Amino acid sequence: MNNIECKVCIIGAGPAGLLTYDYLAQYNIPTVVFESSCSYGGQCTAFYRNKQINGIPGLYNTSAGEFIQNIYNQCINKNNIILNANTDVINIKNNLFYLKNDDDIYICKYLILATGASSMKPIIPNIKGIEKFINDEDFLQFYCSNFEQYRNKKVVIAGGGDSAVDYAIEISNISNVNTNTKSSITENKILDISSIATVYNNVTSSNQPSLQSVIPNNVVLLHRRDKLKCNQNKLKLLNKVDVKLNQNILEIRKNLVITDKEEIHTNNVIFCYGFTYNNNFLQQLSKFGLLLDNNLINIDLNSMETSLKHCYAVGDVVKYPLKKKNIISCCFEAARVVNTILNKESLF
Ligand SMILES: Cc1cc2nc3c(=O)[nH]c(=O)nc-3n(C[C@H](O)[C@H](O)[C@H](O)COP(=O)(O)OP(=O)(O)OC[C@H]3O[C@@H](n4cnc5c(N)ncnc54)[C@H](O)[C@@H]3O)c2cc1C
Repeated sequence: MNNIECKVCIIGAGPAGLLTYDYLAQYNIPTVVFESSCSYGGQCTAFYRNKQINGIPGLYNTSAGEFIQNIYNQCINKNNIILNANTDVINIKNNLFYLKNDDDIYICKYLILATGASSMKPIIPNIKGIEKFINDEDFLQFYCSNFEQYRNKKVVIAGGGDSAVDYAIEISNISNVNTNTKSSITENKILDISSIATVYNNVTSSNQPSLQSVIPNNVVLLHRRDKLKCNQNKLKLLNKVDVKLNQNILEIRKNLVITDKEEIHTNNVIFCYGFTYNNNFLQQLSKFGLLLDNNLINIDLNSMETSLKHCYAVGDVVKYPLKKKNIISCCFEAARVVNTILNKESLF
């Protein structure tokens, strides 16, 4: 068993952990990142590698996979990003953290928690018949890592948040146009989608192609409420999607979704009802005084410090007023925690 001393240990190599690592490296602060899974990138690579990243100024037309690869390529000393790491907290004494990882004990002055959604498990809704398809990945999914599998397919996406809307937009861009069914927007009163109105207006005027050939509806976005809970700027991008609101799914059968209003034949169903978390590492730390709030960590926004001295948190695992779970928040929080450490080390 080796004792390895380093200034900072980061737990998690999602965007928050990688950005923090990269920024610390620019100041030559010895840092090790422990990632429990077999690849870096967190949700970006696990759940939406091919989707374009939204909401980061200056980053145009870049997929999540490319974004993560760029950060990784930029990181100095990639050897200190340890994948498949099985890390336990064994002690905190004299203001030092003792972490055990396989055969080594890492002793660090600062610990940064970037565990994000940690071991995410999709929420499986209680819908009749769904249990039969949990392992039928050709039909039922809870996230899409490869949009190509939906090319020319009819896809029902259930959910009304950003993930569901993002998936619907991406898939509608590659799904087939040759449909015979009229596209519809059910209950579109709350969807102020000017571009959809434009398409409808255009196709009803003379000399325009028929509605069937203009509006593909291979993608159905099905939401149980009367309003989508996504960034409202995305609504105009749903112009190739059948948005069906106020519909509850009652039953799932092979290639069939039965709602309280209709039956929809489909090749795929994707449920985007969120994820549940399971985080042993945080539970271990809570025995040393880390305060958890529903598996999330409250921090002091000035320093990103948790309730444990010299223990910080960044990314989706963090909770504070007006917190948004997105990458721009990760960037801000990474910069913030590094500045705190530089300040403490009198390097700022
Ligand atoms: C479908 C989808 C689309 C999205 N699209 C966008 C978008 O377009 N724009 C945007 O800004 N945001 C988007 N997001 C949100 C964005 O991906 C997250 O905000 C971001 O990934 C959070 O980064 P993170 O590093 O905090 O957490 P995560 O990405 O969850 O990464 C955490 C990492 O920590 C690891 N880990 C967990 N526990 C341990 C442990 N005990 N030991 C070691 N490692 C551990 C995990 O394996 C994981 O790799 C999207 C999210 C989803 C699900």
